[in-house]
Amino acid sequence: MKNIIFIAPPAAGKGTVSNLLKEKYKYNHISTGDLLRNVNKNTDLGKRVQEIMEQGQLVSDELVTELLKEKLKEIDGNFILDGYPRNITQANILDEILDELNINNIMAIYINISKEEAMKRALSRLICPKCKKIYNKFNDEAKPKKENICDNCGIELKTRDDDNEESFKVRFETYINNVKPILDFYKSKNMLKEVSSQTSNITFNMIEKLINEDKND
Ligand code: ADP
Repeated sequence: MKNIIFIAPPAAGKGTVSNLLKEKYKYNHISTGDLLRNVNKNTDLGKRVQEIMEQGQLVSDELVTELLKEKLKEIDGNFILDGYPRNITQANILDEILDELNINNIMAIYINISKEEAMKRALSRLICPKCKKIYNKFNDEAKPKKENICDNCGIELKTRDDDNEESFKVRFETYINNVKPILDFYKSKNMLKEVSSQTSNITFNMIEKLINEDKND
């Protein structure tokens, strides 16, 4: 089974689909956003990272790459990369890292979604601080059984500090400014597949189909 690189705007559903793939196919889910959110906030570095993320800007390539490299060395088995590469420099760096680690079975999946839909989702997203399950309070399929409480952990759900309109707009703009060269990069390597984001189950089914088609090639 191939390793997956997700390329998608903020709030397109990468995290939700990754969680579903992780459950069913035992993928390791590497989210650079989660790695950065886990940097100790009591350090100067942690405070700076938190500030950049809250503004919706990109953290330095060096720091994210360092965290990613550590994680890739630590895991065993197939992985989903969610949130990296976010610019063409990172796409080139990733290529080198994967070469060094002798990993060449990669599929890049582009999840397409309109800005309006992504913003709607970001502004109604809720996350369990413990198991990281992602909910959406205005979507019947994705809302928790009990208002504001995680179905799995029974604890209160939180909103992400960067899920506000101002930060979302910066994140989306940054994405638009960077995505084209990344897509061209993977297209030229014949690694690129595309799906359009729908409900999480439909998106999951489309991605599942891509993975299984590829397995049978
Ligand atoms: P979303 O996809 O909804 O924006 P993420 O959790 O993927 O959420 O990312 C949250 C924030 O983490 C980004 O806005 C950015 O500040 C930082 N970040 C995540 N991945 C990267 C990356 N590869 N390079 C630089 N910054 C990153």
